[in-house]
This record gives sequence, C-alpha cells and structure tokens, in this order.
Amino acid sequence: MSLQCPRCNSPKVASFHHAMKVGAAIGTVGGAARGVSAALAGGQAGALIGAFAGPVGITLGSVSGAILGGLAGGVGGCALGAQLGDTLDRHVLAHNLCLLCGHRFNLPA
Ligand SMILES: [Zn+2]
Repeated sequence: MSLQCPRCNSPKVASFHHAMKVGAAIGTVGGAARGVSAALAGGQAGALIGAFAGPVGITLGSVSGAILGGLAGGVGGCALGAQLGDTLDRHVLAHNLCLLCGHRFNLPA
C-alpha cells in the first residue's frame, strides 16, 4: 500500500489511527455502563432463580448473574466502539500526514 500526498505527491506519508483508539475507549466505557445495568438485571434474575434454592441460592444467583451481565456488556461495547472508531478513522478524520509539506488528508473513499 503506497500513499501519496495529494498536494506535493511525496510518498513520505505518516498514518495515524487516533479515532480507532478513541472509539474503542468510548465503546468500552459505554459497554461497561451498559454492563452495569445488565449486571443489575442479571443479578435480579439470578436472585429470582436462586430464591427457589433458598438463601444461599439467592447470593450465588445474584453474584453469577451480575458477573455474566457485566462481562457481556463490556465486551460488546468495546467491539462496537472499535468498529465505530474505525469507520470514523477511515471516512471522517484526516489521519494521513505528509512528512514533506505537512499536509493532512484522508484516504480516497
Ligand atoms: Zn505533501
């Protein structure tokens, strides 16, 4: 893959991938937040199921439901965020920098 500066046609071009990292971070935070609510719901469901098995079952059900819900939410959010960031990176943000003239530009869509 050979990039060229559209202004001076120099092949010395640096590429950045800020948006992907930002998107992944946003997705992780969003996913964790979603995971917390999923954990609460999972904990409630677990407690309900565990209630049939008595007090010990309530505790076990709550904890395992919360852990599963939190994990699923966090992982899903991170993957979604990385995908979003990658799309932004490719189509919206100028992330190629010409090392000769300093011109910033996007990849041709
Ligand atoms: Zn240039």
